[in-house]
Parts: sequence; structure tokens; C-alpha cells
Amino acid sequence: MSTATSRRTDEGAPIVELGVPVVGGARGRAAAGTAGLETSDATRAERFAQMRAGELGSLHSWELVTAVDGPGTRFTMFLSGCPLRCLYCHNPDTMEMRRGEPVTADEILARLARYRGVFTVTGGGLTISGGEPLMQPAFVARILRGAKDLGIHTAMDTSGYLGAHCTDEMLADLDLVLLDVKSGIPETYKKVTGRDLQPTLDFGRRVADGGTEIWVRFVLVPGLTDAPENVAAVADYVSSLATVSRVEVLPFHQMGRDKWESLGLRYELGDTEPPSPDLVQRVREQFRERGLTVF
Ligand code: SF4
Repeated sequence: MSTATSRRTDEGAPIVELGVPVVGGARGRAAAGTAGLETSDATRAERFAQMRAGELGSLHSWELVTAVDGPGTRFTMFLSGCPLRCLYCHNPDTMEMRRGEPVTADEILARLARYRGVFTVTGGGLTISGGEPLMQPAFVARILRGAKDLGIHTAMDTSGYLGAHCTDEMLADLDLVLLDVKSGIPETYKKVTGRDLQPTLDFGRRVADGGTEIWVRFVLVPGLTDAPENVAAVADYVSSLATVSRVEVLPFHQMGRDKWESLGLRYELGDTEPPSPDLVQRVREQFRERGLTVF
């Protein structure tokens, strides 16, 4: 059920208020859209200025989840905009920032303050996901700082491609980075995402060298990312990062397919089957062989 409300003042465009989660979030999970979040009523020029200052962001959706996106029960917010074009993206509607709703950092922080008790009891906190959070670094920085002022555990789910946008201050305000390593071989990474691998490797190294905990995510797609040498390259890299405490091997599924079609985008994995249990086991074992904790 949603308690979504939106309001419009005399001053200009709408912003959204956060309510109770409904269905439709990133990764094919339940989410609230922007339900219950109060949308901004600023003019276009004011909104650009607010976005540059980090006071306003573009939000795809949010949800309360347990046992994913970090420890405990989490307020996961999915920001709009992403520089990658992963063939298996579950939420291609997060790729364009313009599809999001304008939401203020203050609105997010007020909501976080309300859930503080839940986070304390469950050992949970805030996870900023997307899309790609680092498309909106000033907004993310402001929310991370505010969350730490509230004493809330913070995580960011990122491909690392825009790691250069993450300041040292932002890293200091992060307790956990969920790093999506989409492939270990540059050519495969480019095929999967349309972009270069190196920025992800550089960001992961920087996060680890700074001592911040990392959970790695790897999406296993038969015929695309499953080659033993590709998995080995990911596993070798991940095992060289001292702060990785967990690796999640995520089996590909077709849950995002309808969204691609409804957006009029060409979906290239229509004939791809989910990985077999044997294949998932083989890949998880490639990570375990290097002493990594794998889920
Ligand atoms: S990083 Fe890839 S999977 Fe994630 S939102 Fe961007 S295109 Fe989609």
C-alpha cells in the first residue's frame, strides 16, 4: 500500500513525500516509487542550482528491505541516472536522470530520522543505490553527511565507473561500499556495460586502501560473463582488496525484460536462460578458492 502524496506550491515545479513502500523498485524488488516523499516546487533554474548544491536530487524510487543492500533493515533509495548500459539492467528506467522525481535531501533525512529505531534494532541503515549514485555526488554527499550526523550506518551501491566523483569526505561518511564488478576482462566489461573497466578497478582499490568495507556483486549471465577466465579475473582482483568481506554471485534472470520493451529499448538477452545450479556453483567456487566469503 502506498501513502504517496505530492504537493505543489505557488512557487513552481513539484517535489515528492515519502510514504509506505509499494511495488516496482530497482532489481525487480518491491519499492515505493517516490511515494510519500515530498517533491520540490522550485522553478527549473532554482532546481538546477539546488541540484548543484546537493539540496535536491532525482529519485527513481525507495524501499525498506531486510537482508539485501547491506546488513539489517535498510532504507534503500534508487537515484536516477546511470552512465552504463548493462545488457541485463533490471531497471532501464533508472538510466535517464530526467525520469526521476525531484526530492530534497532534507526530506530524505527527515524520513531517515523516523526509521532510526528500526535501524538500531536490526543493525540496518541507509543504502544509496541507482541507477548510479555518483551521477549526483553533491546530493549523495549531503545525505551521507546527514545520515552520519543521525548516527545511521551508510552504504552506497555503485559500479565505481564514476568513482572519481566520490570525494574523500564522502568515503569517510560511508561504512560500506557495495561494488558491482560486472566483469574482469576489459573487452567483456565493455560488451556488458558499454564502458571501460578501469575506473571500477581504480575505485575499488581506493576504497580498500582507505579501509572501508566492501561487498562485491557479480551478475552471472550465461554466454556473457560466465567464462572461467572472466570470473577468474574478477576473483583475482577482488581477492586483492583487503576490505572485501563478502561476494554475492547474482544469477541472471529475465525480470527486467518487460521494462526494456515498455521503454521502446532493444533488449538483447531475450534468449538467455538463467544459469544452471551447476554453473552458479562453479562460479561461486572460483571465488571461494581465493579465500573469499561467497553468497
Ligand atoms: S549500472 Fe547497469 S544495471 Fe545498474 S542501473 Fe546502470 S545500467 Fe542498470
